[in-house]
Amino acid sequence: MNESAPQNSNCRILLPSVLEFLSRGPKKLLIGGKWVPAKSGKTFETINPAHEEVLAIVAEGDNADVDDAVQAARKAFEGGKWPVIGPHQRARYLFRIAELIETNAKELAKLITLDNGKPIEESIAEAARAAETFRYYGGWATKIYGETNPSDPSLFSYSLREPIGVCGQIIPWNGPLSTISWKVAPALACGNTVVLKPAEQTPLPALRLGELMLEAGVPEGVINIVTGFGPTAGAAIGAHPDIDKVAFTGSTEVGKLILRASAGNLKRVSLELGGKSPNIIFADADLERAVALSARGVFRNQGQVCCAATRMFVQESIYDEFAERIAAKANEIKLGEPLDKTTTMGPLVSQEQHERVLGYLKLAREEGADTRAGGERGPQPKGYFVKPTIYTGAKNGMRISREEIFGPVAVVIPFKDENDAVIQGNDTIYGLAAAVWTRDLSRAHKLARALKAGSVWLNCYGIIDPIAPFGGYKQSGFGRELGMHSIELYTEIKSVYVKL
Ligand code: ADP
Repeated sequence: MNESAPQNSNCRILLPSVLEFLSRGPKKLLIGGKWVPAKSGKTFETINPAHEEVLAIVAEGDNADVDDAVQAARKAFEGGKWPVIGPHQRARYLFRIAELIETNAKELAKLITLDNGKPIEESIAEAARAAETFRYYGGWATKIYGETNPSDPSLFSYSLREPIGVCGQIIPWNGPLSTISWKVAPALACGNTVVLKPAEQTPLPALRLGELMLEAGVPEGVINIVTGFGPTAGAAIGAHPDIDKVAFTGSTEVGKLILRASAGNLKRVSLELGGKSPNIIFADADLERAVALSARGVFRNQGQVCCAATRMFVQESIYDEFAERIAAKANEIKLGEPLDKTTTMGPLVSQEQHERVLGYLKLAREEGADTRAGGERGPQPKGYFVKPTIYTGAKNGMRISREEIFGPVAVVIPFKDENDAVIQGNDTIYGLAAAVWTRDLSRAHKLARALKAGSVWLNCYGIIDPIAPFGGYKQSGFGRELGMHSIELYTEIKSVYVKL
């Protein structure tokens, strides 16, 4: 076996460019504009979760490689071309990256699906969103203003908004391209340089994007990519004394580790963490729409979404009907080969995640929930498949209702009235997202205020647009990404006084 060749039984439906990328030899780290092996010489395998087969061999970066990447990023920030390049040119780079993502969207989408397991249609949409986010922040690069401050007449005072410096960015596997665009695009728009660590489960889309960024002409050291594991490469970024800001998306548990590690040099920190989002359906809602979009809200990306609609609160009078209809929707989902366009749910990302979710299905039975759909692994002989699962008879106090499962699993819980819906909805350590389905406009807006969540969807679910902030209340993290809020995350403000 050629250890770097794809061993995928679906090679026949892969694009030649994807095959070429996969078979080009062990994947390397991008440091200072060059592709280099890990200093230790170590590598790891990235696996296709639909077939449990090795897709590619990837460099396993650690502390020493992160050190090199930080040095390259520092050099590019302080002394390279980047600080003197100016906003118009930075904007052009970001627009060019957006164009290259679009030109190579099919290939990137296939890499996302191969590495992560999500259905190809979802990967195509992810590549399009990533391009849009780069384009959106390309627009911002020329619109980052300071202020003139109305100081004493004998003074002239103004403020400058400046890049922070070297940014460490640690991203998860559930949106391996979109989460990069959320972090890299605003960081570069503001004039920072980046050390990016993709998740070990899905390094390939990031590495291909790295190639495209070099093709776009991004100067050396501005983007550095260190693939590797969380406790080694990730922890080295969290603790590095010469990284000025760290941005993390992932589990609440690891978010807390990052926060502790960042205290060493008081890095600026933004954390986008877990969720257990309430999706509240009133009796007066458009039920057909609520059922269809709630199913999508929890089952998209196999439920491996931080803002997934995992706790469905349904008003008592429609509880049985809703439960029956959402279970029927779950049973309509086509679980299988994610590269097949007719598939609507693929495998979970990894064996570890598969075992974790199957563990929760066992727990649901022990806690006495009623299985209305799914509740078991998929019938496929290979691959990390789990059937879309709906539980009724669950209480908000059960562990399956409180802990983030990160799989295609929802609990359906009854509520009496508005007050009860808000109390149960807010009864969680998380606060990332919430949704309300009702035809009563004032009730919808009242609940939007009462729910403690960073995003609230009214009669819809899961809409995210780069123009609007996204982030969490409570243990779902802090700092808001997207919109102008990412510009705030990636800049320092300096006040200047002149004595007249
Ligand atoms: P999940 O549990 O969903 O895999 P994690 O929070 O473990 O999410 O992972 C998200 C990202 O954080 C990945 O890139 C992972 O490698 C990284 N990571 C995991 N552990 C650590 C750590 N101790 N320090 C820094 N990064 C970490």
